[in-house]
Amino acid sequence: MAGTSLEVDLNKIRENTARIVEICTPHGIEVLGVTKGFSAVPEIVSAMLAGGVERIADARLENVELLRSEGFAQHMTLLRIPMISQADRIVRKTQCSLNSEIKTMRALSEAATAAGVTHEVILMIDLGDLREGVVPVDAVGTIREAEKLPGIRVAGIGTNMGCYGGILPTATNLSLLCAIARVIEEKLDRKLEVISGGGTSSIQLVKDGKMPPGVNQLRIGEGILLGTDTTHQLKLDYLHQDAFLLKAEIVELKDKPSVPIGRIGRDAFGNVPQFEDLGIRRRAIVALGRQDVQPEGLIPVDPGIQIMGASSDHMILDVEECTRELHVGDRVAFRLKYQGLLNLFTSPYIPRIFLS
Ligand SMILES: *Cc1c(COP(=O)(O)O)cnc(C)c1O
Repeated sequence: MAGTSLEVDLNKIRENTARIVEICTPHGIEVLGVTKGFSAVPEIVSAMLAGGVERIADARLENVELLRSEGFAQHMTLLRIPMISQADRIVRKTQCSLNSEIKTMRALSEAATAAGVTHEVILMIDLGDLREGVVPVDAVGTIREAEKLPGIRVAGIGTNMGCYGGILPTATNLSLLCAIARVIEEKLDRKLEVISGGGTSSIQLVKDGKMPPGVNQLRIGEGILLGTDTTHQLKLDYLHQDAFLLKAEIVELKDKPSVPIGRIGRDAFGNVPQFEDLGIRRRAIVALGRQDVQPEGLIPVDPGIQIMGASSDHMILDVEECTRELHVGDRVAFRLKYQGLLNLFTSPYIPRIFLS
């Protein structure tokens, strides 16, 4: 019996990766495979590599260390701005990190010198999304400081968008990134190797032929994994959206009223629940709860199924309109949003099944 589990179709991950690499390569853009969405599970990382990415990137040093212990020798980039407290581990386990603080780059410089390695840094420029990065006017000054540090090589600059402020990458703001790169190159009298133009939300510009020339790297997670671009609310129709399928076992199936009976207090999380009276409805409880995934991160595959709510360990589905006949013990499938993906890979309760 299968029970509640997460099925990962490794072929679809490989094909999504290959498709994105195929779109980017003719424009001189390298794709970094971003592994943080699935806690860098080695089987999935291998599928990305089989799809044609050569370098990988993750936000968590623990994930990089897991991959190193599994024998992955690829070039790895740390995506989250480094913690000074981890400088020693970072220069030993990664080749490159994204940075915005000169104090941190000094720590990386000392650690790299002590370890006898050269660590690459990419200076992040904040073009308006207001997550990480120096503001554009500080870019040249910061790079000049970083250039003096032994053990470090300034490999280039980059930006991040569509994360905190929801700012969309455009030909305009990415042209600014390229213009900053040209100013820096002039001041340093050398070429920068990398201009890193964002993540999945930047693919559309490449596809439309509107990516400013100069951008030569994208760091892609969501597109490869889910075939979606949440920032633009796009389903990327040339990619698979179902490489990950969560299947949850039905543990109760009954007709019940759609409005609870009695005085309404608070639900298990302290919220006052709201209900619409739709009469008696067929509903299913599946063995899945907020300890595993937030219901907002799931999309039922059957069109007639709706998620009504969830407590820690039970998820309630309205299955009245489901055209398939359901039974206790059957499984209901869900596609994932990015949040659902993150949740499921950090839940210890959901077994993973790899299909290939
Ligand atoms: C997570 C992350 C990415 C990948 O973003 P996707 O939208 O999943 O492609 C890229 N860059 C940085 C800095 C990130 O933290």
